[in-house]
Amino acid sequence: MRTIKDLGDLRGKKVLLRSDLNVPLDKDGAITDDGRVRASVPTIQRLTQAGARVIVCAHLGRPKGAPEARYSLAPAAQRLSELLGVPVPLAQDTVGPSAHATVDALGDGEVAMLENLRFNPGETAKDAAARAEFADQLASLADVFVSDGFGVVHREQASVYDVAERLPQAAGGLVEQEVAVLQRLTRPARPYAVVLGGAKVSDKLGVIENLLQHADMLLIGGGMVFTFLAAQGHEVGTSLLEKDQIDRVKGYLADAENRGVDIVLPVDVVAADAFSADAAHDLVAADAIPADRMGLDIGPESAKLFARRIAGAKTVFWNGPMGAFEMAPYAAGTQTVAQALVDATSAGAFTVVGGGDSAAAVRQGGFDDDDFSHISTGGGASLEYLEGKTLPGLAVLED
Ligand code: ADP
Ligand code: MG
Repeated sequence: MRTIKDLGDLRGKKVLLRSDLNVPLDKDGAITDDGRVRASVPTIQRLTQAGARVIVCAHLGRPKGAPEARYSLAPAAQRLSELLGVPVPLAQDTVGPSAHATVDALGDGEVAMLENLRFNPGETAKDAAARAEFADQLASLADVFVSDGFGVVHREQASVYDVAERLPQAAGGLVEQEVAVLQRLTRPARPYAVVLGGAKVSDKLGVIENLLQHADMLLIGGGMVFTFLAAQGHEVGTSLLEKDQIDRVKGYLADAENRGVDIVLPVDVVAADAFSADAAHDLVAADAIPADRMGLDIGPESAKLFARRIAGAKTVFWNGPMGAFEMAPYAAGTQTVAQALVDATSAGAFTVVGGGDSAAAVRQGGFDDDDFSHISTGGGASLEYLEGKTLPGLAVLED
């Protein structure tokens, strides 16, 4: 992979930097977790210290290819400016007159930001010609391209993939660091425990096939678990369930058995009568979820069981909260698992947390980034890497 030092002297060069600033905002537009902005800072500082003129580009949310005020990158530009301690002017467009004027005004070692890439239909277009046209416009702003948006390197998008074919290019420090962590997970110190949860069940089932070849145990919680419980023939009530994946999961259970990989499922579940913080909820056995209830967290016995298994591991990869942690009655399982990773880290294990909501959950739980070996900025990207897929945004950085 080409890295920043392969780009030579950057003094006075205009560097288009793809960062990942896709931060969660509350309803008033305030950033609720600035982890991704903080993670983007070291590469920006490295470039400014080298005398580059840094043009940060990023996306926020899912606007439909046209400007929409609520998806403006203004909050991210402001937070970045606070963290860097220098002004970060934000262009009013991405590749239009304001972008060009903003770039022209940059001095050596200064930073500016373009408006949300996804205000342009070409950014995420499936049609290569539409992407190419937008990538040409982006490339015309700069002399070189640095790819540091780890959270999007699995996307074949204009600012990730196409633009890298148009300018001298390299991976930024964050992408380098994330890839090094993932490489370490593919040759883990053993025992290797993987904890999976969250709500994107069908997205995440794919990785299990590959993890069964590498991990010693798989601890399953979150919304994912109900497809497993259903595959074992249990009633799961109104819980999150991917009916069409049950056969696939049965296959995983059989494969795990053959390979001697432990699939550890919860033994108890917090079952509520609605997806709400004030719903009636009770602790039930995992094989006895009432038909009119939904499982919204793993129960305390399960959390203890998971924590014991994590304590015995030398490598832990965790993706996906154990429950609907945003609501206090369903946060305990995630909190216990987070604490178990923290304890394992102190005891010398290599621990990685991936996934935007998982990262938000550990920060909400009062933990510090330093309590874990690594908190990844890209859930989907890290899963696809571990699945063994080719990531377009990384492939394009090979020499
Ligand atoms: P990540 O962003 O870490 O990859 P996901 O996006 O897959 O994780 O899932 C996070 C969401 O999963 C959280 O918003 C949480 O409320 C939800 N979740 C976890 N467990 C359950 C459950 N049992 N039922 C419904 N939603 C759940
Ligand atoms: Mg998520």
